[in-house]
Amino acid sequence: MTSQTPAARPPVNLDWSTLGFSYIRTDERYLSHWRGGAWDSGTLTLDNVLHISEGSTALHYGQQCFEGLKAYRAADGSVNLFRPDRNAARMQESCRRVLMPEVSTEQFIEACRQVVRANDHWIPPHGTGGALYLRPYVIGVGDNIGVRSAPEFLFGVFAIPVGAYFKGGLTPHNFITSGYDRAAPQGTGAAKVGGNYAASLLPGLEAKQRQFADAIYLDPATHTKIEEVGAANFFAITRDGQSFVTPQSPSILPSITKYSLLHLAEHRLGLKVVEGDVLIDDLDRYSEAGACGTAAVITPIGGIQHGDDFHVFYSETEVGPVTRRLYDELTGIQFGDRPAPEGWLVQV
Ligand SMILES: *Cc1c(COP(=O)(O)O)cnc(C)c1O
Repeated sequence: MTSQTPAARPPVNLDWSTLGFSYIRTDERYLSHWRGGAWDSGTLTLDNVLHISEGSTALHYGQQCFEGLKAYRAADGSVNLFRPDRNAARMQESCRRVLMPEVSTEQFIEACRQVVRANDHWIPPHGTGGALYLRPYVIGVGDNIGVRSAPEFLFGVFAIPVGAYFKGGLTPHNFITSGYDRAAPQGTGAAKVGGNYAASLLPGLEAKQRQFADAIYLDPATHTKIEEVGAANFFAITRDGQSFVTPQSPSILPSITKYSLLHLAEHRLGLKVVEGDVLIDDLDRYSEAGACGTAAVITPIGGIQHGDDFHVFYSETEVGPVTRRLYDELTGIQFGDRPAPEGWLVQV
């Protein structure tokens, strides 16, 4: 524990404008231990290294899950979390899927609050476009060797100041469909569990080696429908500019950004919203497309390579008008510059 209050700490010497998405060791992180049937009350610690049993199920059998959300500095200096109750609920679902004890929504939000407050001087100033990224996680720990649920668990939250995930901001990126699947049809694709991401490392690398930003995953059963864009969800705007379309499937990770865009597209842009199939052989129906997520925010998709075909949406260099409006609306809400729908911002 530290004796310094956040306000007593000097401002950190970071160039906020060039921040990327990289690990930076900030001051304090939260840790709670599950033993004997309950989570303890949790503490903040300066130590960024975990000391866990070599038999931990998280290391051998992938019994773990994680979350990602951001704290945003508003113009008046206050700090808000964006829909943390949704991250808490999703982490509970991930925990249930891999047989780990759930963290209550109350404890989840309290842990995030404590970590944001303790790292206040690491939060990028309003207007820089940066935010404090929070990484909550639950891992199975304790002595074990058989394939079974762990005897103990850790729930942690740490924080990192971040800029834009894809450098260059709202500039379109090109993607390529992968022949690999990130998840099985009835597997763990809808849970934010590590195995899905281990499975995506090689396809992601192969896409990057071919000069694409990342891999696009098709539905694992038929390989005819778009599911995910790297670790982000996919959306598209129909040619008439009237509909916001996003895939629906049990193997897609339910993105909170995506559900927020569905709401904003309908209620602020007056679009029709559709959760349904996006066929990879029918991309001519769409005039714009994008990837969305907490880290990626909204990344416009310039074009998609699929086999020998390269399909360009709006432009390889310019963001389309609907994507731009969605981006302005979403980030305006997150940074406190536009009115937020009831309950979306939680002040720290
Ligand atoms: C985390 C994640 C997303 C984005 O979810 P958000 O809640 O919007 O951050 C999308 N796809 C995958 C595979 C993810 O892991």
